[in-house]
Amino acid sequence: MLAVLYQTKLRRDGRLVSQVRVSVGTGVVLGLWKGQLMVAPTTAYLLTYYPGRCRANCKFCPQARNSMSDVNMLSRVVWPKCEVDLVLEALREHQGRLKRVCIQAINYPDVIDELCELVARIKRFCDLPISISCQPLTGADIKRLVGAGVERISIALDAATPEVFDRVKGREVSGPYEWRTQMKALDEARAMHGDRVSTHLMVGLGETEEDMVRTIQLLHAKGIVVGLFAFTPISGTPLAKQARPNVPSYHRIQLASYLIRQGLTDVGGVTFKDGRITDFRVSREVLRRTVDSGEPFRTSGCQGCNRPFYNESPRGPIYNYPQKLKPREIAMIQDQLGVN
Ligand code: SF4
Repeated sequence: MLAVLYQTKLRRDGRLVSQVRVSVGTGVVLGLWKGQLMVAPTTAYLLTYYPGRCRANCKFCPQARNSMSDVNMLSRVVWPKCEVDLVLEALREHQGRLKRVCIQAINYPDVIDELCELVARIKRFCDLPISISCQPLTGADIKRLVGAGVERISIALDAATPEVFDRVKGREVSGPYEWRTQMKALDEARAMHGDRVSTHLMVGLGETEEDMVRTIQLLHAKGIVVGLFAFTPISGTPLAKQARPNVPSYHRIQLASYLIRQGLTDVGGVTFKDGRITDFRVSREVLRRTVDSGEPFRTSGCQGCNRPFYNESPRGPIYNYPQKLKPREIAMIQDQLGVN
């Protein structure tokens, strides 16, 4: 019976997937449409196409089950749908301008089958490493995805604490996710797929800086790479009117995250007052050198991922810098952090 159902999904050419969403900036790099880019994406960002909404109900997400947002959006970015065959040809032609392919997946029946097919087809057209970002996976799903050619697997936690998780992704929004199972899925992915596992954390959902830094430390200790995002209010979602995170606070979290990643501090040393970071527990010299490099404030996550303006307008204020910071940008952050 299952085999029959599976068969009925196949198109006449024997394939499951005919369309995929492409981020508007990626489409420019791939020559699929024309546009002006202030900063070009260094990763090709794709999003699964499904003629409906996601089964999950994350409060911040325009793709969510109960969202009233434009379904062509994810965060503040528009993702037009395209024929897969066109995208594959474009990837073959323009892969030299890119360092990675990232496929974001919404949650719907058969998404793993579709991801496996899409990844295997991309691998036939280009040599770029492929990241997928999706719902918690079973061991069998991981084996299939890796067999198809996935390099990195990301399972988004988004929230920094179980309470925030419940409120924005879990029980309180009748979502399918639980903090415990999400963490377990990350642990299992880590055990099976080594150091090629990532997660996303979103600043600004009601957690404190301390909550965020403690969770970053926990994930770092597990060997899981964290991509930091800033909450972005999107029209049509229940959080449309919620404020964006405070910019200096976001930069403090980025700085703590970077110092942890570099092994220069850990959460046992960092001090907090009322949930806010007050001391990174590194020497003044190390702190100054680290801030001056600008590196902590660049987009974090998989290697080669810069997600230009995913959380902010190019006019600013900028949360994640998609390229090397200019001296005036570093000076502004030095002022915001009081490190100069
Ligand atoms: S860090 Fe970037 S490339 Fe990696 S899963 Fe997240 S969005 Fe994709």
